[in-house]
Amino acid sequence: MSQSSKISMQRKHRRRRVTLLLLGMALLTGFGIWIGMMIAGITQTEMPAEEGLPAMADIPDVSPVDADIAPPPDDNADTAPEGITPQIQPPAGPGAADLWSLILVNKANPIPGGYLPDLENITGDIMVDARIFDPLLRMVNAAKADGITLTIISGFRTYEQQVGIFERRKQFLIETEGLTEALAEASTALYIAFPGESEHHTGLAVDITTPVYTELDEGFEDTHAFAWLSVNAKDYGFVIRYPKDKTAITGIEYEPWHYRYVGTDAAHFISSNNLCLEEYLDFLQNGWPVDADGDDGGDEDDGDNS
Ligand SMILES: [Zn+2]
Repeated sequence: MSQSSKISMQRKHRRRRVTLLLLGMALLTGFGIWIGMMIAGITQTEMPAEEGLPAMADIPDVSPVDADIAPPPDDNADTAPEGITPQIQPPAGPGAADLWSLILVNKANPIPGGYLPDLENITGDIMVDARIFDPLLRMVNAAKADGITLTIISGFRTYEQQVGIFERRKQFLIETEGLTEALAEASTALYIAFPGESEHHTGLAVDITTPVYTELDEGFEDTHAFAWLSVNAKDYGFVIRYPKDKTAITGIEYEPWHYRYVGTDAAHFISSNNLCLEEYLDFLQNGWPVDADGDDGGDEDDGDNS
């Protein structure tokens, strides 16, 4: 082989090597671009590039609301499938009595310290536990559809508000009847719950009247509103908290205007079996027979501010 042909061969080899190198680089570049596009594609499906930021910024606003809305249906007492006869199947079982909707507040069970539910404004400055806002509103609207106006005149009360109600009544008795402080307090306690012992602290109780009948007394029993509530309140999870024949157990006089949210299952069971909340909770914990020794004539007398 001549020197010139040797050089020519070497050039050819070099040219082929360069061609292969270029081809390899082109392939690698192409592969790289393809990989890049794939990654970009995946990223795009997971998080829209442009809308990504606003969407992410929205998330903190959305999730807490969802979290607030989601729990109530699960926490409610009304979890039994439809078709189960409430008289036979109450929402019993371990912990059933611990449901938020079955919290018991009375003379023997003052409101737990620091208890403050999320509140929602129902009308005017009247607020209720946010978890009963919907059922209460549905009940009021259902009554309205039947031609009955239910006026919610009282809902959640703070400890301080109850102190105010109690103290005003006590001072009134001291000033108008000349009672000593001790006597005035004892007398007030016959009609008004001590601060901490009022069910209104729970935000689960409402006092209902009508635009025509505004008194908080037994006359409410004769109103169309009461007749409607007697039939329908349980369907929205509400019961009469202080029934006529349960004063010895509840420690509170009959209050046909005071309704308490307990959940629909509990409300149906309580109504069908003519129970008060104390008896129902006793039943959940101990089963029948309920201690219904309600005829001894309790001497505790609470008025419309219980
Ligand atoms: Zn009340």
